[in-house]
Amino acid sequence: MEISNYDDWNDGLDFRPTYSYFCEKCGYKGTFLKKATDPETGLSYTIAQDCECKVEYIAKMRMKAAGIHPSYRDLDCKKELNEKEQQALDKFYDFYKDENKIAKNLLVYGPNQSKKTKFLAVASKYLIMKSLNLTVKYITFHDLLLTINKTWKTGDYSEVEEFYSYDILIIDKVEAGTHFVKQNMNMVTFNSIFDKRDLEQKPTIVSCGKLDDLDYINLDAGRFIPREMK
Ligand SMILES: [Zn+2]
Repeated sequence: MEISNYDDWNDGLDFRPTYSYFCEKCGYKGTFLKKATDPETGLSYTIAQDCECKVEYIAKMRMKAAGIHPSYRDLDCKKELNEKEQQALDKFYDFYKDENKIAKNLLVYGPNQSKKTKFLAVASKYLIMKSLNLTVKYITFHDLLLTINKTWKTGDYSEVEEFYSYDILIIDKVEAGTHFVKQNMNMVTFNSIFDKRDLEQKPTIVSCGKLDDLDYINLDAGRFIPREMK
């Protein structure tokens, strides 16, 4: 049965949680069922498959929630990331599938024109598209320190505690120059975010201009897999 009288909302994409939906964009009707086999048990089962519009739409909503700038949300991961970069991110993502692996942080460094922010945005979209259950948060170093600094006045640490919980935390533009770095208590809290995340096996992605920047804020470069961008 064709369902065509749904209210017009969300650009004509209707993803209400019904057993079947009708996508006005691609004309996809109902839930598409796909056969799959469990590699361990060999058992066959049927899974519900969403149309690409729905997957892309949910990914975009998650990009928005993650704090990724709108101009980066539409980028095509397959075009923007080369095969090697995709493999590296797949490896990074694998930590979530194997409990025995130790999560590693990623460090992206290079000069200002090396498009680190764009790379981080595309990488986070790629990870979100791989698993829509993953929570990703993007924040600049400056805004993170601003949030930390605010807690000294308000006494409310809930905003800072949120940074412990994201599956992947991306801290962009780490630099020694900002005046917040000179306030020791800010940096103690900043480092505690890394300690807590490391303990819980939650990886963090950091970007900076040069490796020396990490020394100034007492972050051990040994905690990261480095990736230089030129
Ligand atoms: Zn569709």
